[in-house]
Amino acid sequence: MDKIAKLEKIKARVINLRESPLFTYRADNNYFPVIGEGSHDAEIVMIGEAPGRNEAKTGRPFCGTAGKVLDQLLQHVRLERDSIYITNIVKDRPPENRDPTAEEIAVYGPFLDEQIEIIKPKIIVTLGRYAMGYVMKKFGKEDALEPIGKAHGKAYDAQASYGAIKIVTLYHPCVAVYNPRNLPNLKKDFEILGAQGTQR
Ligand code: URA
Repeated sequence: MDKIAKLEKIKARVINLRESPLFTYRADNNYFPVIGEGSHDAEIVMIGEAPGRNEAKTGRPFCGTAGKVLDQLLQHVRLERDSIYITNIVKDRPPENRDPTAEEIAVYGPFLDEQIEIIKPKIIVTLGRYAMGYVMKKFGKEDALEPIGKAHGKAYDAQASYGAIKIVTLYHPCVAVYNPRNLPNLKKDFEILGAQGTQR
């Protein structure tokens, strides 16, 4: 089965994920799950937290205000959005954009695991503390975990089933939505992606 077919299968399973605590909320609001978007051969997979309202209305990751900040950050390091793959740990919108629960992360995490196995990125970029916590633990880096205030802008060597990878831990773009004065710091942190040899 090719990558497209495998990723489509994931999408179909998430669409029918009745056991998710967010399924009823999605259905009641006519929302879409947000599976992910971008190159299936991406060297970089970026992982956010969960879809917001705009994302749930369109089924596209990072298409709202946080997405506009992400676009600026990508532009800053001259990374084409189409050249990477963007997804979230939690694929459905939590009510009122509250933090995802441990149960939600446990329900949706395996789909992210499969996406990583299919795309096989060399660099996994986590946006915010939830994606960081999940990915660092998944790759046996729990001991290196620090609060996001310390971990932001760092890269860690890790081993995936398909080879060596880097995990890059960055602030979530919403940090600059809440306070635009954070944007220069986020831009500086994103420069690590150029340093990983990924600039085009
Ligand atoms: N915030 C996220 O973490 N993901 C999105 O897709 C949008 C906002």
